Amino acid sequence: MLPNKKGYFGEFGGKYVPETLMSALAELEHFYNFLRADRKFIKNLRFYLKNYAGRPTPLYFAERLSQRLGKAKIYLKREDLLLTGAHKINNTIGQVLLAVAMGKKRIIAETGAGQHGVATATAAAKFGLECNVYMGDEDIKRQALNVLRMKLLGAKVIPVHSGSKTLKDATSEAIRDWVTNVRTTHYVLGSVVGPHPYPMMVRNFQIIIGRETKKQILKAEGRLPDYLVACVGGGSNAIGLFYPFLQTKVKFIGVEAAGRSLSSGLHSAPLARGRTGVLHGSKSYLLQDKNGQVKIAHSISAGLDYPGVGPEHSYYKAIGRAKYVAVNDQQALKGFKLLSETEGILPALEPSHAIYYLKELAKRAGRNKIIVLCLSGRGDKDLDIIKKALGIKL
Ligand SMILES: *Cc1c(COP(=O)(O)O)cnc(C)c1O
Repeated sequence: MLPNKKGYFGEFGGKYVPETLMSALAELEHFYNFLRADRKFIKNLRFYLKNYAGRPTPLYFAERLSQRLGKAKIYLKREDLLLTGAHKINNTIGQVLLAVAMGKKRIIAETGAGQHGVATATAAAKFGLECNVYMGDEDIKRQALNVLRMKLLGAKVIPVHSGSKTLKDATSEAIRDWVTNVRTTHYVLGSVVGPHPYPMMVRNFQIIIGRETKKQILKAEGRLPDYLVACVGGGSNAIGLFYPFLQTKVKFIGVEAAGRSLSSGLHSAPLARGRTGVLHGSKSYLLQDKNGQVKIAHSISAGLDYPGVGPEHSYYKAIGRAKYVAVNDQQALKGFKLLSETEGILPALEPSHAIYYLKELAKRAGRNKIIVLCLSGRGDKDLDIIKKALGIKL
């Protein structure tokens, strides 16, 4: 069972937080461990995932994409079809229901591009909780549409002016708020990062992706797939897909963002180019400079633009259970075009990284191999960036 009682996946994970947060994390862990086994809670969660968010999502055989790439059979797990357009809603509905059960009246969250902010504001609106979202000043300027969405959903967006004015700083601010208001407030973290129990809890809210996939592929093909492929920012959609297959022979491939390029230093690939360090309460691979200062991440896709990664991925890398590769901005754009033109699906830029990698994998994998790719979100949110990057004139 991963993680161990103290929240470690091998040497990674743990709880590196100020004393004032230890009791909050202990309370959260206590409630979560009770509720995860509580029939009523599970039934309630299932009800909203099905009737409100739109689960189960289809596992779709991408026939034209498969033909284009050659030999392998490629299936897409369609998280892009969910309410708010990505897998993030699986986690925010789970955590907001948890907050309600804990008697909390107020929700806080961090957001980079605004996708997790929107998913949190959605769940908070649905269950009637006050919602404050911390967002870097830079990101507020770049992601005006998501700021509008959050406001329309009744959330307050709090600008963060410190540091690089992006996700890393917004996360630090949210943690600070939580320390101050812990009695009334639940902090909805957006990925499998942060101190224990978050990496475990967020994973468990996302493993519905892998559980459904297992059933669906057995029904469609009568066997398990050969490869699972997913993009890795913090790593929640990837771990959600991978985890139910942990005890099988299925190969896991996580795709990080190589940004401009790995050698340029302007990337978001801590598993490929980082070193072990501590950020936002847990030990994991991390982008840092010679002096151990956290480096700013770069990626064309905002959802992958984070200098850290979930501790469970660091562990899978260390023990060789998963392979991690990196795909750069230009290649991700090619991945975007590839899926758009072969299947009529505009993917988000995050999974476009993973789609590009399919070109290499499908060639190497050989005839009749089965590949499942997590299509973590849809592309509407990225169209402006894509239009500029591809130089498209209307
Ligand atoms: C946020 C986001 C990601 C990255 O987050 P993970 O925790 O790594 O899954 C990936 N894809 C989409 C569409 C996102 O919105």
